[in-house]
Amino acid sequence: MKNIRTNIFNPVSPETAAFLPDFVISFEKGKISSLLPFRKFHGAWEDKRDCICIPGLIDLHVHLSQYRISGLYQPALLPWLRQSVFPEEERSRNPYYTEKLSRDFYKAQIAAGTTFSIIYTAPFVEAAQCAFEVASDMGIRAKIGMTLMDMNAPDTLKHSTDYALRHSIDLYEKWQDRSLSYIFTPRFAPTCSAKLMQEIGSFAKKHKAYIQSHLSENPDEIAWVKELFGKDSYTHVYNDFGILSPRTILGHAIHLSDEELDLLKSSGSSIAHCPDSNFYLKSGEYPLRRISEHDIPFGLGSDVGAGTSLNMLYHAKMMNYRQTKDAILAEEMLYRITLGSAKIAGMADLIGSLDTGKDADMVFYKAPAGFDITQQSLSQLCFAPDIFKICKVLVLGKDMLDLA
Ligand SMILES: [Zn+2]
Repeated sequence: MKNIRTNIFNPVSPETAAFLPDFVISFEKGKISSLLPFRKFHGAWEDKRDCICIPGLIDLHVHLSQYRISGLYQPALLPWLRQSVFPEEERSRNPYYTEKLSRDFYKAQIAAGTTFSIIYTAPFVEAAQCAFEVASDMGIRAKIGMTLMDMNAPDTLKHSTDYALRHSIDLYEKWQDRSLSYIFTPRFAPTCSAKLMQEIGSFAKKHKAYIQSHLSENPDEIAWVKELFGKDSYTHVYNDFGILSPRTILGHAIHLSDEELDLLKSSGSSIAHCPDSNFYLKSGEYPLRRISEHDIPFGLGSDVGAGTSLNMLYHAKMMNYRQTKDAILAEEMLYRITLGSAKIAGMADLIGSLDTGKDADMVFYKAPAGFDITQQSLSQLCFAPDIFKICKVLVLGKDMLDLA
């Protein structure tokens, strides 16, 4: 049993975060066993009274294979994919490269306070398998998918429909535990055949498996989808091929008609909103108000390498800054990088908030000397995160980072 005396902000809903000042959080065998005000606690404790403690952060959309090209600029999605992303993903064919890349990527995630993420790897089974093995070795938690492309991609990255399906299903069957599981990952409609999408859709439906992809990020991409598939809309392509479900997470979702929003809502699909990436590639402004009016669940993704940081507090701030009209408060910013995303990932019974019985995944931010931690500190953590310094990150109760 371990006991830490600290100040906790616990997400409850987009509108509410509970503030628990001077509490003791106790955990045993990876699970939280109690949360008590210090005055009611008896026993030995570790002193983190100068810290804010929040649940481990969640990144709902990130490309491990693009970690090393973050910040290498191209002004739009399709040229960026061709000139920056594809040559870099090709390098993951080398097992030594992909092993080191995976290790460095996870280390950087932990240093940024992220304890769970949903990952795209390079389109090679060896790269995806390596991402799982390194994660398992380091105690990292994630859903990981091999990015699938069976058309309109460089020959070096494109695979047959059979390869994409067979290896995805193998990985899905192999990795299904509490910390690591597989997510089917057709990159986006322009690089996936109708057959590939249909087969993934029907397997995922039958096995209740998760799917991730990209949707309506950029006008040129949308025109390309129209030319390739001729459907009513980009969302109709995924709907008609069986990709949409309550276990489907779609990155971006910027340029959508009301009919498309209705389709997303009725299918139960969720969105990974990536505000930093959307402005980096000048893709457009996320239709936050319309998505909220349609009651479509969404969480935040870094979208590294189009995103420029693995720090999810930075992306929470960008969610606010990348809306020209609507203000977003700190409670919602925290929710979208913790509990809201845990629900979308089907993990809310394990992670996303600090409650008795849940897993002990948490981050501690140290306040500067003389700095009072009050109810208002959540706003400062979200809008001025540089005031604080991550000093401790725990996954399943185990120290992944301890700078005390
Ligand atoms: Zn992406």
